[in-house]
Amino acid sequence: MIPPIADRFVAGESPAEAIQHAQAVNQRGVSVILNLLGEHYHERGPADEDAEAYIRLLEDIETADVDACVSVKPSQVGLNVGVHVFRENMERITEQAARRDVFVWIDMEDHTTTDATIDTYEQLAYRYEGGVGLAIQANLKRTEDDLERLADVPGKIRLVKGAYDEPAEIAYKRKEEVNRVYREYMEFMFEEFDDGAVAIGSHDPQMIEFAKQLYDEYGTDFEFQMLMGVRTDEQYDLAREYEMWQYVPYGGKWFSYFYRRAMERKENLLFAVRAVLGR
Ligand code: FAD
Repeated sequence: MIPPIADRFVAGESPAEAIQHAQAVNQRGVSVILNLLGEHYHERGPADEDAEAYIRLLEDIETADVDACVSVKPSQVGLNVGVHVFRENMERITEQAARRDVFVWIDMEDHTTTDATIDTYEQLAYRYEGGVGLAIQANLKRTEDDLERLADVPGKIRLVKGAYDEPAEIAYKRKEEVNRVYREYMEFMFEEFDDGAVAIGSHDPQMIEFAKQLYDEYGTDFEFQMLMGVRTDEQYDLAREYEMWQYVPYGGKWFSYFYRRAMERKENLLFAVRAVLGR
């Protein structure tokens, strides 16, 4: 069982607990993006097993009739084993998802995976029109070109700032620079992308305000996305007026994810320490 400290950020170890969390959050008007924790497999066995677990999860989503989709990490379903393994597993997941009318996101990992991930997304997006989305990282200098390439692809793009520590030759390193390009890319997406193709994956109040302004200006339908356990009250507030999705990790490999969340902000760390001390 997941200890009380970690259950702020992780829904549980089993798919049943993840579905239960989805039901609770759905009641507050927030939709859910389920992510089975796991990444960086170097052998085919665990990559195939996680792909199978996603396929079973799709069935659970349909059976429980929850407002939920899934988000898959490329290295979790075989990208480090071989591009063909990643493609085959994504194809299997997406095919099942299309049958069950469940949307599939592909998370973006470090820059060595960007080309293979975009190529695979593009193929799937044309084959399963409207059923697949991709995360794109504002901190990478290539992103301006990537967004232009992706503007006409029939899918959705989740714009994030980027979670990986990338080399300065290929990435913006300073927070202000990343924020500047994030705003530019948001504007490009509201202007050029179709209705429903824009997802804003950020907790940043300034980016959220800017997205609202862009919506007023361009009228492009979009959604907000935030992580479970981060600015939860804001998520419920936004859900009253906008489409709001909560990214919900679950599964046995919860510790390293929880550790990252606890370490990234002082208040999260204090929260964890207080929980351990019981006050
Ligand atoms: P930051 O730039 O970290 O912070 C800006 C401001 O936001 C802060 O000053 C504060 O006011 C507020 N804020 C931020 N975090 C908190 C917090 N914990 N508590 C309270 N206030 C806070 N990255 C990838 O590289 N690939 C992915 O596929 C990917 N998918 C993601 C999916 C979702 C739904 C989300 C929300 C993020 C994803 N990320 C992904 C992570 C992303 O790249 C950023 O690293 C992360 O979201 C931090 O950037 P930010 O815009 O949220 O805010």
